Amino acid sequence: MDIQNKMNPIEEDKMNTKEILDQLTLEEKAALCSGRDFWKTKAIKRLGIGSVMMCDGPHGLRKQEGEGDHLGINESIPTVCYPSASALASSFDRDVMKKLGQALGRECQAEHVGMLLGPGMNIKRSPLCGRNFEYFSEDPLVAGEMGTAYIEALQAEGVAACVKHFACNNQESMRMTGNSLVDERTLHEIYLPAFENAVKKGRTRSIMAAYNAVNGTFCSENKTLLKDILRDEWGFDGMVVTDWGAVKHRAAGVAAGLDLEMPGGPTATGEELVNAVKDGTLSEEELDRAAGCVLEFILTAAKNQRNETIDREACRRLSEEISAECAVLLKNDGALPLSGSSRVAFIGELAKTPRFQGGGSSHINVPHPVGALEAAESKDIIYARGYDVLSETGDPALVEEALKAARSAEAVVIFAGLPDAYETEGADREHIRIPGNQNELIEAIAKENAKTIVVLHGGSVMELPWLDKVSAVLLMHLGGEQVGKAAVELLYGIKNPSGHLAETWPARLEDNPSYLNFPGEEGVVTYAEGIYVGYRYYDKKKMAVTFPFGHGLSYTDFVYENLKIDKESLTDQESLNVSVDVRNTGKYAGKTVVQLYVADKESTVRRPVRELRDFTKVTLEPGEVKTVSFTLDKRAFAYYEPKCSDWYVESGEFEIGIGDSSRNILVSGTVHVEGTMLLSFTVTEMTTIGQLLKHPKGSVIMRQMMGSSVMASSTQSNALGEGHEDSMKKMMLGIPIGSLVSFGRMNAEQLKGLIDSLNQ
Ligand code: BGC
Repeated sequence: MDIQNKMNPIEEDKMNTKEILDQLTLEEKAALCSGRDFWKTKAIKRLGIGSVMMCDGPHGLRKQEGEGDHLGINESIPTVCYPSASALASSFDRDVMKKLGQALGRECQAEHVGMLLGPGMNIKRSPLCGRNFEYFSEDPLVAGEMGTAYIEALQAEGVAACVKHFACNNQESMRMTGNSLVDERTLHEIYLPAFENAVKKGRTRSIMAAYNAVNGTFCSENKTLLKDILRDEWGFDGMVVTDWGAVKHRAAGVAAGLDLEMPGGPTATGEELVNAVKDGTLSEEELDRAAGCVLEFILTAAKNQRNETIDREACRRLSEEISAECAVLLKNDGALPLSGSSRVAFIGELAKTPRFQGGGSSHINVPHPVGALEAAESKDIIYARGYDVLSETGDPALVEEALKAARSAEAVVIFAGLPDAYETEGADREHIRIPGNQNELIEAIAKENAKTIVVLHGGSVMELPWLDKVSAVLLMHLGGEQVGKAAVELLYGIKNPSGHLAETWPARLEDNPSYLNFPGEEGVVTYAEGIYVGYRYYDKKKMAVTFPFGHGLSYTDFVYENLKIDKESLTDQESLNVSVDVRNTGKYAGKTVVQLYVADKESTVRRPVRELRDFTKVTLEPGEVKTVSFTLDKRAFAYYEPKCSDWYVESGEFEIGIGDSSRNILVSGTVHVEGTMLLSFTVTEMTTIGQLLKHPKGSVIMRQMMGSSVMASSTQSNALGEGHEDSMKKMMLGIPIGSLVSFGRMNAEQLKGLIDSLNQ
C-alpha cells in the first residue's frame, strides 16, 4: 500500500488566503469559523467572498432546499440513491468507488454543492452499531482503500470530500456524549489507518470531527487527534469540520486544531472566540489558522465550481450496475442461476418495496425505487406477500397464500431482511435477527419447495437460523434504488455475483469480540478487545462463523496458482513483489476478489493470525488466466509499537497467503523480513534474561558474561527431572537479571556494570 505525504499544491491560494485574512477583523475571522446556517459557510460580502454549500450523502446527494435537519427528517431534492457503504465495500472494487465518486462529483457541481459529507470511514467494531450500513468494513485496509478511491474521484470533479467521523465513533448509543477508551496500538492499527489513507493518499480536503470523546477528550477539541496525528504526523492541511452540533468548548476546539463549527446559524457569531482571544486563552495565530483553513476551503470551492448538467437516467443505470457488483452470493447448492423459462414464486413484501437505503442523515429522496417484482415483469413469476414488513408476527393468511405459490412454482425466491426500524442513525441494534415472521415463513417454504432461495436486504450482519435448509442465499445489502433490477439480473444469471463480505458474519452476536463491552456504561466504552476486531478475533480464536471475512461465491470457479514472491529475504526498507495466476475454470465469465494476507509466523507481541494487506478484483472469461501482482512495503509486515510510537517490524519469517477469504488461503509462501529499527530499551534489575537475549547488544554481553553457565545449567538434568529441559529453559529466561546476584552468578558491582553498559 502506497501512502505518501503530499503537500497542498495551491500555494497561490494560500497567498490569497493570507491577504484576505489580513483584511479581516478579529470578529470577522471568528464569525467565519461557524456556519451561516445548516448547510452553508458564511459569506463576507465586503470582500466578495461567497458561501459554500455542503450536503450529506454519501451514497447519493441529500440537498435540502427547504428547512435543514441532520436526521433525515425533512425532504431533500429528488435524486438517485446508490448502494450504501456496507454494500460498496463488498464490491472490493476501487473502480466502482471511482465511478460513484465521479458521478456524485458531477451531480454536486450541477447542484452547486462544494462539499459532500462523506464517506463514513469508521470501523465496524460491533454488528450492533446502528450506522454500520454507512461504514465500509471491519478491516482498516478495505475501509481506507475503498474510501480513498471515492474521495479521489469526487475531488477530481472539484468537489471536496469530508471524511467522517474522526475518530472511534463506532456506535450510536451515547453517540454525542460517549468516551471511547482505546489503547495506542489499537488506535493506530485498527481505528486510524482508514483516515490516514484518506488523508495521505486520498488527500481529502476536509475531515469531520466526531461527536464522541477519545480517551477522555471530545474529538472536536482533541489535540492528539486533530493536531499531533492529523496535521503533524499525516500532513493534513485541509479543513476540520465538527459533526453537526459536536462543539463543546469553542475556543478549546480551535486551539486543538478545529476549524469550522457546523451547523452554525444566527447565534453562532464567534463571540466566544473573540472573547477567548481578548482574554488570552486562545492565541490569535490559532484563530488565524482556523479562519485560514475555512477561507481556503471557500476559495478553492469557488475556483473549482463549474456548470454541469446531470443525466439522472444515466445515474440510475450506474446505480444498478454498482448494485450488482456489490451483491454477495453467500450460499448456492446449484439452485442459482434460475432458468429464464421456469415458473418462479417471488415471495415477500421486500420483493415489491425493497429496502434499499438506511435512515438518518444519509437518507436520499428517491422518486421511484425499483423492486425485484417490477424488474422481473417479463419472467414467469407468481407473487405472494408472505409477511407484513412492519410486523414481527406471522399472518396465517399471508403464509397460506405464500405456501400455495411455493407449491405451484419450480423455485421460490423469498425476499427477506431487516426492516427500516431495525437499523438507523441515532440508535444501535439490539440483536442481529431478522423479524420472527420472516424466519418462520422461510422455514415453512423451504419444507414445501426444495429450491428455496433467499434474497437478503439489510445494511449489516444477520443471524440466519434456516441457512442449512435453503438452497441459496444472495445478499443484496442496502443496494440502492435499482436493487430490484440488480437482484433479478443476478438471480437469472444475466450477471454473475462477485461481491465478497467486508465483515465477518458471526454465528452468534455473543461471539463478537466487543460483546462484553458494547455499548459501555456511564458514558464510557472500553475497547477491551484491542486489535482483535472482526476476523482478527474470530480467526485467532478458531471460532466457527456463519461466513468468514472476504467470503463470496460465484457461478463460475477459480483456481489460484503459481505464486511468485520476488525475494526470499528483504529489509523493511525494501519492497516485495508478489504475483499469482488466477484461472477461471468454470463455464461463466466472472470476477473474483484476490485477497493477500500477511501472517507473522513468530512474534514477541500479540498479532492476529493473518491480516489483509492488499486486494484486487479480477475479471475472467471461461478458461482465461490472468496474473495478479501486488507490491508490499514495510507497513505490510509492521505492527504499531507504542514504545517508539511508530510502525515496527520485528525481524523474522512472514507468510504471504493469497486466497478468497480470510479462512480460505489458496496459495502461500514464506519470506524473511529484517527490521531495521532498534527499539530503545532501558535495562533495569527487573529486565529478564529472556528479554536481554532478544536485545542485539544485550544478548552479546549476556552470553559473554554468563558464558555457557546460565544456559548450560538450564539444559542439564535438574530438579524437574529428565525431559524437562524446555521448561527449565523457560524458567531461566524469566529470571530478572537482578536475581543473578542472589543466585551468586555475579556480584552487585558486575550487575551495575552490565546495566550501565547496556543503557549507554
Ligand atoms: C451526522 C453526520 C452528518 C451530519 C449532517 C450528523 O448528525 O452524524 O454524519 O453528516 O449530521 O447531517
